[in-house]
Amino acid sequence: MKTINIAIDGPAGAGKSTIAKMVSAEMGYIYVDTGAMYRAVALYLTENNIPDEEAEKHMEEVEVSLKFVDGTQRVYLGDRDVSDLIRTPEISMAASRTSAIPAVRARLFDLQQKLARENNIIMDGRDIGTVVLPNADVKIFLTASAEERANRRYKELSEKPDCPTYEEILKDIIERDYNDMNRETAPLKQAEDAVLVDTTELTLEQSAAKIAEIIKERV
Ligand code: C5P
Repeated sequence: MKTINIAIDGPAGAGKSTIAKMVSAEMGYIYVDTGAMYRAVALYLTENNIPDEEAEKHMEEVEVSLKFVDGTQRVYLGDRDVSDLIRTPEISMAASRTSAIPAVRARLFDLQQKLARENNIIMDGRDIGTVVLPNADVKIFLTASAEERANRRYKELSEKPDCPTYEEILKDIIERDYNDMNRETAPLKQAEDAVLVDTTELTLEQSAAKIAEIIKERV
């Protein structure tokens, strides 16, 4: 049976994962966060002191898998749940570099396509509509200004100890955008047939409602 595939791409901090989680719960689809897979590979390389130049040689041994517990994605390296360990600024930046390596992308591509073949999914990332699922039923490109994305991230982190400053967060976001948009393999860009949604002036609820509406119109 043909599965329904929805692709959401966009830069870091545009709200993809929060919105995709809300909409997938409403529609009963599985939400697949592909960024977590790149983060898991980056964690593997970091923990094993493998420099990026040698990553290709080690790709066979990296076992990334996803499990869905009550609709929530957990990411595993081998049999270790690394879902929380991958959410640090260091791993964000490492993933941004690691994801430019073609062998890393090739390793995760098959896994992403298999998930889409077997399940009704909302998959978010950078190249889902352009490379991974070019025939997705719906493609959305979700964005917001870099300042607004940094602002949201800052609010999210400001309660935590060792919170970076707003300026540090903005600098990281700009650097990651640059890396993602300028790499040779599968750079971040809007697919020609994707619907552009700019959430700079929208609340989370408004953004989620808009995305749900776009999906329901087309599926
Ligand atoms: O989405 P998230 O910020 O967790 O992704 C971490 C990094 O993984 C991104 O900065 C990006 O470089 C990379 N990524 C990618 N392709 C995807 C998803 C994420 O290159 N489909």
